[in-house]
Order: sequence, then C-alpha cells, then structure tokens
Amino acid sequence: MDNLTSVFAQVRSQFPALNQKVHGKDLVYLDSAATALKPQSVIDRITKLYSYETSNVHRGAHYLGDVATVAFENARTRVAEFLKASSTDEIIFVRGTTEGINLVAQSWGSTNLQKGDVILITEMEHHGNIVPWQMIAEQMGAEVQAVAILDNGELDLEDLKKKLSSKVKMVAFTACSNVLGTVNNAKEITKLAHAVGAKTLVDAAQIVSQEPVDVQDIDCDFLVFSAHKIFGPFGFGVVYGKRSLLEKMPPYQGGGSMIAKVTIEKTTYNDIPHRFEAGTPHVEGAVGLHAAIDFVTQIGFKQIHEFEMQLLKSATDKLLQIPDVKIFGTAPHKGPLISFNLKGAHHSDVGQILDREGVAVRAGHHCAQPLMARLGVPGTVRASFSVYNNENDIQTFIKAVAKAREMLL
Ligand SMILES: *Cc1c(COP(=O)(O)O)cnc(C)c1O
Repeated sequence: MDNLTSVFAQVRSQFPALNQKVHGKDLVYLDSAATALKPQSVIDRITKLYSYETSNVHRGAHYLGDVATVAFENARTRVAEFLKASSTDEIIFVRGTTEGINLVAQSWGSTNLQKGDVILITEMEHHGNIVPWQMIAEQMGAEVQAVAILDNGELDLEDLKKKLSSKVKMVAFTACSNVLGTVNNAKEITKLAHAVGAKTLVDAAQIVSQEPVDVQDIDCDFLVFSAHKIFGPFGFGVVYGKRSLLEKMPPYQGGGSMIAKVTIEKTTYNDIPHRFEAGTPHVEGAVGLHAAIDFVTQIGFKQIHEFEMQLLKSATDKLLQIPDVKIFGTAPHKGPLISFNLKGAHHSDVGQILDREGVAVRAGHHCAQPLMARLGVPGTVRASFSVYNNENDIQTFIKAVAKAREMLL
C-alpha cells in the first residue's frame, strides 16, 4: 500500500455506514454529490450535544445555555476561518444552500433590483440557484439570463463576456457543477462581473468538500454551502456575505433573535449576522459542521484532491473501456464525479441494476433540468467519489455497469 492509500484506508474506517450490506452486497457508496456519509467524529459531536449540552442559545439564562451558546458561536468562528472571511459577522447560519440563495435573492434582490435589470446565471446551475432568482426577478420586473456552456461542459467565457453589461446586477454561478463536475474559475468570473458593476454569488455546495475556499481571494459578494455535502448534518448551511452589503440588507424572516426591540407598533432589528437568523437555530447543525470542518482539515485538501483525482481518473479510464458509454462533462478542471449514460438504455434502469449490486449512484435529472435540456437527455447516471471510496469500489462499479450493459442492450 502506498502512503495515500493507507491514509485513506484509515479515513474510510471512520464511516460506520460503510460497514453494512445492501441487497446482500457490500455497500459501495458513490452518491456523495447528493450527500456525503458522516464520520464517527461528527456523529459523536452531535450525540454529545444532545446528551449533555442541550439548551437554547443566546438566552443567557443559565450554565447549559452558556455552554450551548459558546459551542454555537465557536462554530461560526470555525466557518469564518474555513472560508477565510474577514469577520464572523459575515457568516449567517441557514438551513442549506437552497435557503441561503433564497435569503440573498429576497433580501439583497428586493433592495437592489429594478425593472429591466438582469440576473445572470449559467446553463449548468442546480434548481436551487435558478428558481429563487426567477422568483425575485418576477417580483422586481427583472430578467434571468443564462450563460451558455461549451460541449465539454466548461462555461463559455466568451458568452459570459457578451452577456455582461451595466444591466447585469448579479452573477450567480456554481463553483462546481453537480452534474458535469466542471469547476468554474470563481475568481475570474467575479472579476469580470465586478468590472460591469455586478455582484456575485458563488454556489459552493460541491466545491467545499474538494478544494479550499478563500472568499477574500475570490472577492465574491456572497457564497453559500450546505453542511451535509461536507460530511456534516442535514438541514444546515452557511451564507457568507460581505459586511458592507449585509449591513444594508433587510431581514429575510421575522421572529425571535433577529430583533433589537419590539413594540406592537414597530420593531428594530438586531445587528448582522443575527438579523438574518430568526427563531431558535439548528444548534446541532452548527456543532456538527464544526466537527466536519475539523475532519476535512485534518486530512488536508492537498491529500483529498490528489486522492479524489486518482479515483476520478481510474473510474473514467475504466468506464470508457465499456462500449456504448457516453460521459457528460470532460472539463480539464473537474470535481470527482462522472455523469454518463449507456446509449440505448434508460438511466433509471442502469441505476436499478447498479443498486442490486450494492452500488449507490444517482440516476435522474439531478435538479438541473435546463442542463438536461442543453445536453439533450432526460437524465443521466451519476457516480460521485469521496474520501471513503477506494479502488475496490471502482472495480465493483465498473463490473456493475458492464453487467447493466449486458442486461439492457
Ligand atoms: C446540493 C446542491 C444544491 C442544493 O443544496 P441543498 O443542500 O439541497 O440546499 C445547490 N447547488 C449545488 C451545486 C448542489 O450540489
């Protein structure tokens, strides 16, 4: 075993979900782009909170309340550090990427968009980064336009430059496509957007588990991600926003915690970030994300990237040796996932056969119907790789795809 293999064999041993059989076969989990499995450290941290630290936060009434509040705010500090944000005030806790984009679209959009303005997205966006913009566009009389992609799945930068004008107020794009794997150059896109006076929102749902993110280096105005895709809990996520913008944005939801003073006639609002966090927060989400960030940073992105690219290359090379396989997305800078179809077979049938072999993949439109339309297919099969996969998983996956081909074609 080489060094990388032994490091990641140890990483794999920390995921209890992998010690089980499905349909009598060892589980091969290749659906991390939908949600990542959880390491024991994250599970233990959440169990500890529920066992010994359960108390509401920011109420300051007693000992346990202080313990929970400190844990919750320490998570905010850890996230700020992780994203290289300049202040914890720029970190808002939400339910996930989807809620985060809705928050920015509604709160920023309702005060910064006018009739005739353009919100630019791309053809490779997840529905979570399309629909919230359509909703605010309709409310404000603005328009959503999409930057084209090239046939290999890269963003068409010439089309971006063509579509950028002083009418464009927001460029919202994914840092890594959940279907094609394409990694976009967030820094370059942000620079181009800023040159015409537009703001940017980076959908970092896929990238945060793959590569380090530095919001100050990217210079993006907003960035969002979900805890569950980076080995953390469900129902929790983060919005990063530049202080100067957040300070001028109205609340997204009203209720407890987001207020300074309430009378029946009028309410004044709390400072950022609390102004955007109405109600009792998802405390175990915050501490679970803290443990998840510790988990990835302990392994280190350098090793994670090297390992995942090794898995991606191995799986891609082997898959291409199976006749009738068509891969969607061949960008040179690509995350660890492969979307493909067997020509002449339906993606759902392939997904079902793989499942019977114990191989968990996603088959469908991947919440990206406009991209499916662009690719001219109703759906694809997607295999995504993470820190707990290994060469054995890839061999089982390849054998299962070969079996699906024999059965279906
Ligand atoms: C998963 C995903 C989302 C949506 O995340 P939720 O956790 O479902 O809110 C948005 N964009 C991309 C690129 C994703 O992969």
